[in-house]
This record gives sequence, C-alpha cells and structure tokens, in this order.
Amino acid sequence: MTIQNPPEIDSRKIREILWERKKEVVVSLKSCAHCALCADSCFLYRCRKNDPKYMPSHKVINSIGTIYKKKGKVTRAELEEIRDIVWKRCVLCTRCYCPLGIDIPSLISLARQICRSQGVVHDFEEGKIE
Ligand code: SF4
Ligand code: SF4
Repeated sequence: MTIQNPPEIDSRKIREILWERKKEVVVSLKSCAHCALCADSCFLYRCRKNDPKYMPSHKVINSIGTIYKKKGKVTRAELEEIRDIVWKRCVLCTRCYCPLGIDIPSLISLARQICRSQGVVHDFEEGKIE
C-alpha cells in the first residue's frame, strides 16, 4: 500500500518496541546455528521449491535481524521490503520447528508490529502471499 506523503520513520518508536523484546531478539539471533532444519517444517518453503528466501531463518534474519542490526534506523524502503517478507512469505502458522527453541513466528510477528507502528502494512486486497 502506498501512502501519499508518508511521515518520517520514527526510529525512536521502533527502538522502544524492539528494546521491550531485546533479550529474546538477541538470544535468538545469536543462537541460530544456520542449520536450516527449520526449513522443512515451513510449507511455504516447500511449496516454493525450496527457495531459500522462504526459509524461516532467512525470513527472521532479513526482517527483525535487519531492524536490530540497524538499531531501528531503517528507511521506509527497507521497512517495505521487510513488510513483504513478514506478510507475503509467512502466514504465522507456527508450524516451523527449531531444535534450539528459536520462536520464529514470535520474531516475525514482532517485525510486523514494528512495520505497523510506522504505517507500513500489507495490502490484503493486493494479494495474500507471494
Ligand atoms: S532450525 Fe533454528 S538454529 Fe537452525 S537455521 Fe532454523 S532457526 Fe536457525
Ligand atoms: S510460521 Fe511462517 S515461517 Fe513458520 S512455518 Fe508458518 S509460514 Fe513458515
């Protein structure tokens, strides 16, 4: 969805949301072993012929991981890319399994919350998933 004259990104607000869940985010990002074991439990990954960009860990790293790495200082264009990852490539079905206990849907849901806080939301009329 394109908003005419969108407001500036409020990095302080993003950090506020992020910092409330900082421990979970940091522990998850640091403990991911990039083993790809979560991939097989994601039906979207399997339906998309094992396209790596549908791997649960890839979606986490490139959404909340990016926001965390940039300490909330993301551009609107970056948030729009994140929006497409967290809405078009994940339906929050909670089926992904990580042997290390990383809660992927919870992290993707947090990235959605941050996008919403900046008015960057999925247009449900445009289409559900990629
Ligand atoms: S299964 Fe867990 S540790 Fe392995 S890549 Fe997926 S999220 Fe990371
Ligand atoms: S919650 Fe998202 S990443 Fe996890 S299995 Fe469902 S669609 Fe895939």
